[in-house]
Amino acid sequence: LPPEQFTSASAVVTIEGDDAHHLQRVMRAEVGEQVICSNGVDREALVRITQLEKGCVIAEVVEELAMTAEAAVEVWVAQSLPKGDKMETVIQKGTEIGAARFLPFLSERTVVQYDAKKEAKRTERWQKIAKEAAEQAHRNRVPQVDAVYTWKQLLQLAKEADAAWICYEKEDGQQLRPAIQAAAAAGKLGSGKRVLLAVGPEGGFTEQEIEQAEAAGFRSVSLGARILRTETAAMVGLTCLFYETGE
Ligand code: SAM
Repeated sequence: LPPEQFTSASAVVTIEGDDAHHLQRVMRAEVGEQVICSNGVDREALVRITQLEKGCVIAEVVEELAMTAEAAVEVWVAQSLPKGDKMETVIQKGTEIGAARFLPFLSERTVVQYDAKKEAKRTERWQKIAKEAAEQAHRNRVPQVDAVYTWKQLLQLAKEADAAWICYEKEDGQQLRPAIQAAAAAGKLGSGKRVLLAVGPEGGFTEQEIEQAEAAGFRSVSLGARILRTETAAMVGLTCLFYETGE
């Protein structure tokens, strides 16, 4: 439910739109049944359905639920816009694994056409994919999907992170695992901390981009000796991170 519709004070909730349709038409919900309601941000509760109307479900809160499915560290996945529907895969799988936010961006070798007019609709679709994946994964929060960033804007974001890593297949010094371990030892992966993980497009980052990223505060990291497809790299990075933090 939208946060403004399910605030910390609501004792009764009104479910409308797609969620009401899903409950009534797909789940065949009936009065008296209990379901979990989340505002995707800071509240999750068990609610009992009290009324079913056309396109609208009314329910009362039975019990507050602890939000235990979220990782302590917040991981932002910055993904250079990939071709076709790969961004959808990144968002869907990344949400299941535990990413907190998705930041699509443009880099020198991004090949996909960027159309500002179609931008809002596309972001809306991606946000819906994040919502559905979060529900499927029983997440407490729905990851935010941002509008497309420029390369310069992405570089600025490194400053907002406690650790910022840029995945570079030609990196032969720093592996992701020791970078994660060092960040954990420095207290950068605990509650309230933020990690930014950047992945390049199909053609990879240029050497110049890696230099610029490092100057902006990113650390170039390798995900291993094998070259991963762009849509695989974020999944591997997220999995390694949560494996190491035990989440
Ligand atoms: N065009 C490059 C090549 O053929 O060598 C490969 C680019 S790869 C398909 C796309 C992105 O995935 C890269 O920009 C990087 O961010 C990430 N990536 C893939 N494999 C990686 C690895 N082994 N280590 C670090 N990053 C990797």
